[in-house]
Amino acid sequence: GATLGVLGGGQLGRMFAHAAQRMGYFTAVLDPDADSPAGRVSHHHIHTDYADVDGLARLAGLADAVTTEFENVPAPSLEHLAVARPVSPAASAIAIAQDRIAEKAHFTRCGVPCAPYAVVETAEQLAAVEDHLLPGILKTARLGYDGKGQQRVKTRAELVEAWQAAGCVPCVLEKMLPLEFECSVILARGRDGQIVHFPPQRNLHRDGILAVTEVHPQNMPKTVAQGAVNSAKSIASGLDYVGVLCVEFFALADGSLVVNEMAPRPHNSGHYTMEACDVSQFELQVRTLAGLPLTAPRQHSPAVMLNLLGDLWFPGGEADGAKPVAPRWSEVLAVPGTHLHLYGKMAPRRGRKMGHLTLTGATLESVRANASQAALLLGLPALA
Ligand code: ATP
Ligand code: MG
Ligand code: MG
Repeated sequence: GATLGVLGGGQLGRMFAHAAQRMGYFTAVLDPDADSPAGRVSHHHIHTDYADVDGLARLAGLADAVTTEFENVPAPSLEHLAVARPVSPAASAIAIAQDRIAEKAHFTRCGVPCAPYAVVETAEQLAAVEDHLLPGILKTARLGYDGKGQQRVKTRAELVEAWQAAGCVPCVLEKMLPLEFECSVILARGRDGQIVHFPPQRNLHRDGILAVTEVHPQNMPKTVAQGAVNSAKSIASGLDYVGVLCVEFFALADGSLVVNEMAPRPHNSGHYTMEACDVSQFELQVRTLAGLPLTAPRQHSPAVMLNLLGDLWFPGGEADGAKPVAPRWSEVLAVPGTHLHLYGKMAPRRGRKMGHLTLTGATLESVRANASQAALLLGLPALA
């Protein structure tokens, strides 16, 4: 049988491996962690650094094609692999997604507006930031996720302080926008340029981390949904992208959309596709990687996804020495239409993604009522 390789052993790699194995592939994972969620369910686990050329050579020897689930894999490692095997998405696309400065330039090239921003790479650029960008969010250009690497600043003095606290690394300062809501589009683009996409997801973030995703035909105005899909398609085509891509957007009160960022891989906001759609985002990742046909996904059930963060394991707060206690899953699983995913991470920590719960059902009303019930049982905030 053929073997599909993945760089990164987190939950996204684990769900990719599940989809690949269901379709008859063997999987090979490269991850620095000896006991990673994806490594544990794969046929081959290469436990080494992403830049280790011997490890990359072993992966190329085992796998017929290679993808990534971790967006901060060094682009040179992907280029190195691509000499021996098909790699998708390409290093060039991932390099752009890894750097907010290059990413925003790409969005602008594609004619998709972003929030007003300024590049801050030097003290001169910092001093030249225009007043209308404040209050804003200073984001490191590289290596941020789940709101890490971001600081909210109200004044010029706070901005200067924040840039110093960030170590004066390259950043962007984004104007703080009043968000009506957030949404994302997940698409898959094949080697021949064909694009298929899921319906836009409506996402709620808490403390910079995705908390809830809702997907059903009434989750946003049709014009907003269509605009988001069209923008995501131009962004993917402009990169000559191959693979699964997620594009995050902010919807503003006047009905306009601005693009936030992209992820060159399946995305947390697309986990619902495993139960609510006839093709999941992970199956599409397998199909694009293996050069198989893409078919337009059909959502057959409304869905609500609740992220399960490590906080749930510390109902009394994560005081020093507090022992984690798993939530009472049997109560949650008694709610109709619940699909529990736990990623097999051993150490729950505040803000760490431990799993997620997807709710499906015959009607939007029943799914929302059941999701509210599950949230209540888990001690999560009530759904809006
Ligand atoms: P991810 O885990 O999605 O990669 P990240 O660390 O890259 O997260 P962003 O997506 O840039 O962070 O921002 C996280 C959240 O912060 C957004 O989803 C949004 O809720 C809020 N946010 C970011 N930028 C802005 C902005 N310019 N105006 C208002 N809110 C913002
Ligand atoms: Mg991000
Ligand atoms: Mg984001």
